[in-house]
Amino acid sequence: MTATPFDEARRKHRQILGEAVVKNLSSRGFEALYVPTAEEALREVLRIIPEGASVGIPGSVTIREIGAPEKLRERGCTVLHHWDPGLTPEERTQALQDELLAEYYLTGSNAVTRDGMLVNIDGNGNRVSGMAWGKNTLIFVAGMNKVTATVDEAISRVRNTATPPNALRLHIDTPCAKTGYCMDCSSDARVCKALLILEGATGGRKTHVILVGEDLGF
Ligand code: SF4
Repeated sequence: MTATPFDEARRKHRQILGEAVVKNLSSRGFEALYVPTAEEALREVLRIIPEGASVGIPGSVTIREIGAPEKLRERGCTVLHHWDPGLTPEERTQALQDELLAEYYLTGSNAVTRDGMLVNIDGNGNRVSGMAWGKNTLIFVAGMNKVTATVDEAISRVRNTATPPNALRLHIDTPCAKTGYCMDCSSDARVCKALLILEGATGGRKTHVILVGEDLGF
């Protein structure tokens, strides 16, 4: 998109809001940081994860958009993920489990509330399981497009903004893939089954949150 004279005001607003959300995340025990660009977010991820470490990456468009899997592999990290289309069903099941046991768990977040909570909805439950408990270090990366005023708004965001394009991407036959918004369905294909609200960093585990001043993921 062509730059306009209004871009600077948008950038400043994102930074002011991002830093306010970081303060609230920090008060809940998250190691939070605001960075203006996806490039800087990737740099921060690579600063946290040492060369050669194992990294589990669940279904996350954000993490792919910042280019983390390729860069981590270049640095000798073992990237564990179930998105490889060449996997057999058995290998995919194994990969889902391996992701959870990696030394680092690197994921996006469907929403981040202004007062510092992380809201995620899952179909299989693997992603929210890895976010809820683990012995590994947890790293969230979220674009400022994920920030919402309240938990209710966060849930609405996931169902109306994130899930329809995700269902389209994965060719899942949900009602929202046809209408473009949530129908609160009872379809067998429903992907909104497990809801996790992290009100704080869970005990005994380092949890980083990197907020990015760009739109990332759905
Ligand atoms: S509840 Fe159903 S229609 Fe609504 S977002 Fe989830 S899958 Fe789509």
